[in-house]
Amino acid sequence: MNRTVTITLELQVADDSLRGRAQDDIGATREFSGRLGLMHTIDELLAEPATAKENPMNPLDTMFTTDEASALRRLIGGDVLGPDDAGWDAARLAFNLRVDQRPALIAVPASREEVATVVRFARDAGLRVAPQRTGHNAEPLGSMERTILLKTNRLDRVHVDPAARRARVGSGARWEDVVPLASEHGLAALHGSTPDVSITGYSLGGGMGWYARKHGLAANSVTAIELVTADGSIHLVDENHQPELFWALRGGGGNFGVVTALEFELFPLTEVYAGVLFFPYERAAEVLHAWRQWTADAPEEVTSVGRLLQFPPLPEVPEPLRGNSFAVVEAVFLGDQAEGEALLAPLRQLGPALDTFAMVPPAGIAELHMDPRDPVPALGDHSLYGELDAAAIEVLIEAAGPGSETSLVSVELRHMGGALARAEEGAGAVATMPGSYISYLVGIAADPETTARTEADLARVMAALAPYESGRYFNFVERTASAESFFDPVTAARLLDVKQTYDPTHLFQANHELGAGR
Ligand SMILES: Cc1cc2nc3c(=O)[nH]c(=O)nc-3n(C[C@H](O)[C@H](O)[C@H](O)COP(=O)(O)OP(=O)(O)OC[C@H]3O[C@@H](n4cnc5c(N)ncnc54)[C@H](O)[C@@H]3O)c2cc1C
Repeated sequence: MNRTVTITLELQVADDSLRGRAQDDIGATREFSGRLGLMHTIDELLAEPATAKENPMNPLDTMFTTDEASALRRLIGGDVLGPDDAGWDAARLAFNLRVDQRPALIAVPASREEVATVVRFARDAGLRVAPQRTGHNAEPLGSMERTILLKTNRLDRVHVDPAARRARVGSGARWEDVVPLASEHGLAALHGSTPDVSITGYSLGGGMGWYARKHGLAANSVTAIELVTADGSIHLVDENHQPELFWALRGGGGNFGVVTALEFELFPLTEVYAGVLFFPYERAAEVLHAWRQWTADAPEEVTSVGRLLQFPPLPEVPEPLRGNSFAVVEAVFLGDQAEGEALLAPLRQLGPALDTFAMVPPAGIAELHMDPRDPVPALGDHSLYGELDAAAIEVLIEAAGPGSETSLVSVELRHMGGALARAEEGAGAVATMPGSYISYLVGIAADPETTARTEADLARVMAALAPYESGRYFNFVERTASAESFFDPVTAARLLDVKQTYDPTHLFQANHELGAGR
C-alpha cells in the first residue's frame, strides 16, 4: 500500500550534537538524539501504518499495530508483526487452511532469551502467549484476540549425538530435520506419520508413531526439556531437576511454558521392513477384517494401520493414486526381510494390486502414510477403542466404506497395544494409551458445502463406533476441549497442580488447555 507520510521535525543542533523530536501526521511522536537516532526514528514512523485514522472503530488494532508491536520490536528486533505489517498473512497461516488465526501480534524469537522477553512483555501488557510451530493443531486454540502468537520457526537448531544416542533440538525443529540425520548414523526416533509436524508439539502431546508398539510414546523418550515459564525465567528440566514439571510436560502439552529445546533418545536401527499393500476399494470389508484378525497375533515389532483411502483428483497426488480409492494395509516391522515376509504372508495371500514392502533405512518410512505435505483445509475426528470385534469392522464399513457414499478422504484404524499398554518407570503424564486401536478420519473442508458434508460424514462414523470408545488422544483432538478430560482423574488433578504452580494466571494459551473453565 502506498501512502504519503508527513513527518515534522524539531531539531536542536549544538556544536557536534543533535537532539530533536519527530511527529508524524497521525500524532505519533518520538524523541531522538544523534544522526543515527534521527534515521531510526524516521524508519520507525514510516514502518507504522496509519491505522489510527483508518480504523477508528477498532481500538485493538490501533493499540497493537502502533504501540505494542513497535515496543516489542524494539526489545527483540525485527521479527514482530502487527496486522498491518507485510508478511502478516503468511505468518498467521496454520497448516490447516480452515483455521483463520487472528492474534494481536506475532513474534518470531530467535533465542531462548528473546522468548523470555516476549513472555515478560505479554505478561506486562496483559496479553497471552500461544507457542506454535506448524499449526498442525491450531483449530482448538480459539480466539487469539489478546494473544501473542509465538512462532518457534527460528529455534530450529538440530544436533545428533550418535555416541550418546541422543538428539538435542530447538523447539522449532520438525521430524524431517532430524530423522534423515539420525538415519545416516543407523539411529531412529519415535516420529509419527508425517515428517513436518514439530518434534515439540508432537512429543508434548504424547507422540504415537511407527515404532509405538515396540518403544511406546515419544513423550517418554524425551530426556530433558528447556523452557521459559510464565515469570520469564528459563529452566532446564529433567528427571532430577524440577521432576514434577518434567513429568507434566511429557503428555500435558504446551500448558506450562514455551519450550525452547528438547533432548530425546534415539534407537539403534539400520533398516526396517516397511510398506503398503493397496487393494481395490471394493474389497474394503475383506481387507479390514483380515487386517484386524492379523493384528490379534502380531508381535510388538510390528505397528500397522488398516485404512480406506479416497484420493482427491488433485495434481499433487501422484499417479496411480490420483482420483482413485483403495483399501490399504500399512506396516513397519522391526526385523529382517525373511521374518517380515513370513509375518506379512496372510495379508499378501489376499492378492494386493500394489505392494511396496521392502527393507528401507529409518528415513525411508517418512512418507509411508502419504499425509499431505502442503497446507490443506481439513476436518478430522478420532477415538481410542478397546477391543474391536468383527462386528465393529462391519459397522465401520457400513458407515464409511464402499456404498456409504462417504466423502471422507481417509478412514484409518491404527493398531496400538504392546509398549503403549505398559507404564514404564519414570514415564510422563501420558504413560500409556488406553485401548487397542485408534481411529483417525479426515475429510475436506474447503467451503461451507464440503465442510457440512465432512461434518455429517464424521459424525455418522463416530456415532456408529461410539459403543467401542475407550478415550481420546491429546494429539488427535482437533476441536476445543479441556485437556483434563483426556486423562484419568488422578493424573488430571496432578497436572492441574503443576499448572497452578507454573502458570497460575493462564498466560499460556495451549491447543488443549488445562483448567480452561476456571
Ligand atoms: C497430517 C497429520 C499427521 C499426524 N500424525 C501424527 C502421528 O502419527 N502421531 C501423533 O501422535 N500425532 C500426529 N499428528 C498430530 C500432531 O502430533 C499434533 O497436531 C501436534 O500438536 C502437532 O505439533 P506442531 O507443533 O507441529 O503443531 P502446532 O499446531 O504448531 O502446535 C500444537 C500445540 O503444541 C504446543 N506447542 C508447540 N510448540 C510448543 C513450544 N515450543 N512450547 C510449548 N508448547 C508448544 C502448543 O500448545 C500448540 O498449540 C498428526 C497431525 C496431522 C495434521
